[in-house]
Amino acid sequence: MKKMTARLFSMAVGLNAVSKAAKMSASKEQETDVLLIGGGIMSATLGTWLQDLEPTWSITMVERLDALAEESSNGWNNAGTGHAALMELNYTPRSADGSVSIKKAIEINEAFRISRQFWAHQVKTGVLREPRSFINTVPHMSLVWGDDNVNFLRARYKALQQCSLFRGMRYSEDAEQIKQWAPLVMEGRDARQKIAATRTEIGTDVNFGELTRQMIGSLQKKENFALQLGTEVRGLKRNADNSWNVTLHNLQSGAEQVIKAKFIFIGAGGAALKLLQASGIPEAADYAGFPVGGQFLVAENPAVVNHHLAKVYGQATVGAPPMSVPHIDTRIIDGKRVLLFGPFATFSTRFLKNGSLWDLLRSTNSSNILPMLTVGMTNFSLVKYLVNQVLQNEDDRFDALREYYPLAQKEDWRLWQAGQRVQIIKRETGKGGVLRLGTEVVSDKEGTIAALLGASPGASTAAPIMLELMEKVFAERFASDAWQEKLKEIIPSFGTELNGNIEAADQELRYTSEILGLKCDESLVADITPPVQKPTTQPHNDGEQVADIAL
Ligand SMILES: Cc1cc2nc3c(=O)[nH]c(=O)nc-3n(C[C@H](O)[C@H](O)[C@H](O)COP(=O)(O)OP(=O)(O)OC[C@H]3O[C@@H](n4cnc5c(N)ncnc54)[C@H](O)[C@@H]3O)c2cc1C
Repeated sequence: MKKMTARLFSMAVGLNAVSKAAKMSASKEQETDVLLIGGGIMSATLGTWLQDLEPTWSITMVERLDALAEESSNGWNNAGTGHAALMELNYTPRSADGSVSIKKAIEINEAFRISRQFWAHQVKTGVLREPRSFINTVPHMSLVWGDDNVNFLRARYKALQQCSLFRGMRYSEDAEQIKQWAPLVMEGRDARQKIAATRTEIGTDVNFGELTRQMIGSLQKKENFALQLGTEVRGLKRNADNSWNVTLHNLQSGAEQVIKAKFIFIGAGGAALKLLQASGIPEAADYAGFPVGGQFLVAENPAVVNHHLAKVYGQATVGAPPMSVPHIDTRIIDGKRVLLFGPFATFSTRFLKNGSLWDLLRSTNSSNILPMLTVGMTNFSLVKYLVNQVLQNEDDRFDALREYYPLAQKEDWRLWQAGQRVQIIKRETGKGGVLRLGTEVVSDKEGTIAALLGASPGASTAAPIMLELMEKVFAERFASDAWQEKLKEIIPSFGTELNGNIEAADQELRYTSEILGLKCDESLVADITPPVQKPTTQPHNDGEQVADIAL
């Protein structure tokens, strides 16, 4: 009866479920209600949301690689920070009058709390397994030196203390205290250096690759979900009835196939821009992309790894994009504990780590070349920063590491190429083009196609970003009682601003901490140190419990 009602509701608003259609892989004329392009955290999250909200819809996911979460969402291809603005200084910029703006920090903290509730719900309903496999408590710290930076951190701390979301954060300019918090960053440091740090115990490290695989693994158990790996989306054509004919190319056999979709999500990471342009929707013409890659130094030596249990974020170089804020982090990936330092920006014309060198050129056209040139000319500090980074050699990278870990030994560290991010360049009247460092949902006015551009704060906020996307493209359903009720069930704080509402914020923290096995407050300290295991050395292929790409 319930299923019938949902179906009738769907039909009434025009998106009737094509039962099992997505599974007809043998047929040439395949149809699906929802096509998810890309097997990363964003598609996995949207698929999971829709499975909860519209369980009768058929969903097809298409991924060009032979395994899931092999691009930016892979545990080794990003920093795994659960961005809650507890330590990232770029989310609290200094205003012209010297004050610190915490607006962005509040937004990001609220967004991360939605992610925590979304994941907690998925644990409760069995979609996600043992939380420690994808999320762990790792204290978040900011660390700065020099008068100017110390003054800034103090002002930032004071500003954040005005806001209930950041209770529990501690501030110190005492070298001994900071050494207790993070001995590795203090030992061997010049005692005359003026230093300051903040620390919040409830920070997290997240393995987004594992999250992605578990969510998609759960979708695969559903009748109405189909996954096609090794299949690349090559073309999108709108039909007269506003559905889409999408051309899929099997990368192994070379066979072409057309799938008809009522709604498309372009969750193709860095490649989303190219596909958005291929859709021909007028909204796409406003965008261009600029790829910036990231490298990390990684240590696996237990003597080093076990000497540090925190994510310590510093101050970015002037002109550096947010992804280049230096940090030295405890990471927990597939039961292994490692240390990571970076990122170092790299430049490649590829939009994906496994992309083509032609990506940048192919995404450039007559409508976005001018905004791109404007951004190049007006962001000289960024250009200079990138050139400096690209010219860095091993010694330069090691010098950068020693600013955070003075006693670091070269033999403990190796360089790892992480993912590519494509920063958004948007055409704006009167300005030519502007560089946007966040994420942006771009959709057509009919609500039949949407893409996610940009990558910051990224995977941490996949759940709220996909919520925003659904509100945009499924506006009527989103407002319906059925969806609102379900949304409240999944996100208990849905519709409530947590900032300023101490009771609701505490409730959220206690609820999600309990289900996700995370530290909640000082009195609820749990042993969060995961076992140190010998890392595997083989890249994983696919499937449920295999490790991410090993170093
Ligand atoms: C160096 C670095 C550090 C980062 N650190 C953090 C962090 O600490 N915390 C955080 O929250 N976020 C971080 N991010 C951002 C985060 O990784 C991304 O926001 C997130 O992984 C993007 O997920 P996605 O699903 O959109 O893209 P992806 O994970 O890149 O997935 C896109 C998928 O689409 C597939 N695809 C592409 N084109 C096609 C096609 N034509 N047909 C079929 N499939 C296609 C790709 O193969 C890929 O599997 C970081 C990113 C980088 C690069």
